[in-house]
Amino acid sequence: MPVPAMSLLRPLALALGFSLALAGCQTVAEAPAAAPGAPAAVPAHDNLNATAWLQQSAEAAMSHRQTWRSAARLLDAALADPAWDALTPEDRIAPLAGLPPAIIVDMDETVLDNSPYQARLIRDDARFDDATWNAWVAERRARAVSGAPEFAREAARRGITMIYLTNREHALNADSRANLEALGFPPVGEGQILGLGMATPGCEPKGSDKGCRRQWVSQRYRVLMQFGDQLGDFFSIADNSPEGRAAGLQRFDAWVGERWFMIANPTYGSWEPALYGNDRSLSPEAQRAAKRAALQY
Ligand SMILES: [Mg+2]
Repeated sequence: MPVPAMSLLRPLALALGFSLALAGCQTVAEAPAAAPGAPAAVPAHDNLNATAWLQQSAEAAMSHRQTWRSAARLLDAALADPAWDALTPEDRIAPLAGLPPAIIVDMDETVLDNSPYQARLIRDDARFDDATWNAWVAERRARAVSGAPEFAREAARRGITMIYLTNREHALNADSRANLEALGFPPVGEGQILGLGMATPGCEPKGSDKGCRRQWVSQRYRVLMQFGDQLGDFFSIADNSPEGRAAGLQRFDAWVGERWFMIANPTYGSWEPALYGNDRSLSPEAQRAAKRAALQY
């Protein structure tokens, strides 16, 4: 819960008075840390606004809730139409007929909110890495994306299987399952979490691309809907440039808001490296310069 502004003022005034009193005791050899009256330095971080929005704004909660609720209203129509399927022709490698219904959801920033992890990166002026991420997952303290547990329960009530298709490592499935169930998602069965590194016989995955796992799902389910916070949660991106991404999405524009639902996530994603040629070896300054250069005026 946000702290009311007034309650911050008293400790701030006390701290300022204490600092000034200390400054008065300094010897001439000790230079003051900052000019009198100068504001304390607050470290800048490229992800501050996006993380604050995702974590603290009613706008984020409303955006996410409207997405899940709009989708829930379409569940009965999707179930009733045997031709309704949300996989691309590339991923639909088995015929639909007779397959039970499922819904594919991405995990992170789609159903689970990891904004405390992002907040820690800001606090520590750190960048994402596997060690800190895996430790965070093992804490099982991700929050629910607003509206997602209610949607999952609506789907379960209709006998629809939720498939959690995630780039969390497959070895972390137990942590993910415990985290989801503690947040009120319906019980998650053994085959419902398809993590990075799971076996997909007959299909060799390219890095973290989810295509082989979507094809695995296509052999077992009719997929009513897909949910994600990344374009790659829906189809395999051939060209991760802004233009290539837009063109890839355009093919399936009619499915947006009907079979495909995007959960807003401004904090990270493949949209960002698309702005600096996908060269993650660039320094933060070079990445920032490329993003500024991409702005349109
Ligand atoms: Mg995600």
